[in-house]
This record gives sequence, C-alpha cells and structure tokens, in this order.
Amino acid sequence: MNLFEIGWNEFFAKHFEPFKNQGLIPARIACEKKYIYIVYTEKGELMAEVSGKFRFDAQTPKDFPAVGDWVAINLRPGEDKAIIHGVLPRKTSFSRKVAGSRTDEQVLAANIDILFLVSALDRDFNVRRIERFLMPCYNSNSRPIILLNKSDLCQDIEEKVRAVESIAFDVPIHTMSASENKGIEVLGTYLNKGITAALLGSSGVGKSTIINRLLGEERQEIRSVSTSTGKGKHVTVHRELILIPDGGLIIDTPGLRELQLWGDEDNLKESFKDIEELAQTCRFRDCGHKHEPGCAVKKAIQQGSLDMKRFKNYLKLQREIRLLATRRKEQWFHSKQAVHKRIELKRKGFFRE
Ligand code: GDP
Ligand code: ZN
Repeated sequence: MNLFEIGWNEFFAKHFEPFKNQGLIPARIACEKKYIYIVYTEKGELMAEVSGKFRFDAQTPKDFPAVGDWVAINLRPGEDKAIIHGVLPRKTSFSRKVAGSRTDEQVLAANIDILFLVSALDRDFNVRRIERFLMPCYNSNSRPIILLNKSDLCQDIEEKVRAVESIAFDVPIHTMSASENKGIEVLGTYLNKGITAALLGSSGVGKSTIINRLLGEERQEIRSVSTSTGKGKHVTVHRELILIPDGGLIIDTPGLRELQLWGDEDNLKESFKDIEELAQTCRFRDCGHKHEPGCAVKKAIQQGSLDMKRFKNYLKLQREIRLLATRRKEQWFHSKQAVHKRIELKRKGFFRE
C-alpha cells in the first residue's frame, strides 16, 4: 500500500514528526470493533489496539481513534497486533454529541475530504430534507457535493435541480441514475488518489448502489476482511474505509448512515445565510420575524424573494436545535460529574440547596 493512496499528505506528515522520532510508523484506521482496530499501513493491513498508556491518558470518547483517523503504531516482532500510541490531529471530523457534557463528543469518522449528500429524485424528493443534511456538513469542514439520484424516475429534473440550487450556495449539484449506471462517472472527478469521501443521505436513496458501482465486481472482497480473534477463531469484519479501485477512498460506517439531525446554531446560520443576512436588516435586532414592524424577512417573503417554506423549515430546525441544546444541558445537570461538582461546591459553602 502506498501511503498517499490511502490519504497521507503533508498535513499528516508534519504532525507525525514527533512520532517518527520515536520509531513509530503511520497507519490509517479502516474499522473498529470493541476497541480492536484494523489499520492500513505501508506494509499492508494489520490488527491493532491502543497502548495501556493511551487508554489511561484518554479523557473522553473523542480521544480514541475513529474510522479515517491517522495513528502512530509500532509492531514488535512475533506479535500479531500492532500497538497504537497516538492519534494525529484531524483535518475534518464528523461527530455526534453523546449524552452528557459538551465535551462528550463521539467521532463517527475523521478526515473526510468530500461529503456526497445523496437524495432521490423520485416521489420522496424533498428540498427541506436536503437543507437538513447540509447543516452537519458545515460542522464537519468537509466539502459538500449534492447528488440527485434516481433521475430515471423523474419527469421534471431541471425544475428540481433549480429548487436545490436555491437552497445550496456554492455547492455543486449532479444528477444521476445509479441503477442505470448513468452519470456516476462524475464521482471520479472528485475521487482522486488519496481523497477520502463519504455518502450521506436518507435510507433508500441509493447510497449502497452508488458505492457498489464505484467498487465494481470485486466489491465483497474489497469490503470484507477475515481476521483472527487471537483464540484461533476467525471472524469477518467489514472495512469501513474502502479503497476504490480507480482511486480515492470511501468511508461507509453505520454511524454516518444513521446520522440524524444535530449541530448548533452556528451551523444553522451557515446553511441559511440568506435568512441570516436578511435578519441583519430588520429594524429590531431581536426581531422574531413575526409581527414586528420593519421586518426584512417578512418583507422578502411577501415580495417572493424568500420562500415561505424555506423560512418555516428554518424555524423548525431552529426549534429542534434549541430543544437539543436544552436536553443536553439537562443531561449534564443530572450527570455524575455535575452532581459531584455541586456536592463539592456545597461543601465549600458556595451555595445552599
Ligand atoms: P441506500 O439505503 O441509500 O443505501 O439505498 P440503496 O442503494 O440500498 O437503494 C435503495 C433502492 O433504490 C434499491 O432497490 C435500489 O436498487 C434502488 N435504486 C438505487 N439507485 C437507483 C436509481 O438510480 N434509480 C432507481 N429507479 N432505483 C434506484
Ligand atoms: Zn425580522
């Protein structure tokens, strides 16, 4: 395996320097199961686990390696598992906030350069859903590309493309039919050597079909790996970082697939730049865009330059995000950490209950 083909670049090389001096070698996480990892290295594929010190030093779930991460490993002669000593800084990361404090973040996948947002052009076509999926993209720092699949089931493609254009700023849009193998080749223009991509979208839109097209005939072989558990037993695990024969890599993990809405208000502002800009020109700074005089948002809706449905979706997402934030705060309040903190503060006489 060539390191550059699996995503290595100057950014990682620079951050690897201190590890190199310790005689460690770079590896990329292809999958994880119960803290056992499969990694890609220059010398091929290896099983790996984190060192005792690593585990001891790790503070939160996000400190552990995730699929797509670059790690520093060593392999002692005669041992079948490599030892992971460190994780390199992430260029991009896709995470989910797990229940608890703000820092309790779980990284679903790391170092994704390009995110293909897949939607279907069939009866399920829904601009509002695309709006939703764009939001976590802005959070991850990966570059979004919109794929409108199932063009074979659509009569008014141009109209739908225009509808998507009106909500996605500076995001390329491509139409295709994965099942008829039409338009797929456009993915090749993004998936150059060493580029890591992932597909995001509701179930049933055609993500697996697209990935299978990219992998070609040997897809089963490319995805699965038989590995020994150490007790002479062999199990099959699925690589979640997959090398595409024509170049590039795809990350396909259940976590990304099941991704639901999350994010914070900053991401909302980025996805709805137009509304945020309008809101800046409302007469009142804290305008609720309801019945206030001099409301630029209401005016834009009346004049037809802002779609009422888009505005409603914005309000709905804003409500959901605020609810999520409240829930997170509540969870934190009841968490062990917070309870201990309160007991400690009380003991010190800072407050009475
Ligand atoms: P995923 O859940 O996003 O991975 O979606 P799948 O790839 O499993 O596809 C769901 C269904 O849609 C399957 O029955 C596919 O055969 C079908 N499908 C995928 N792409 C197309 C397409 O371009 N046109 C049509 N008509 N069906 C498609
Ligand atoms: Zn307003």
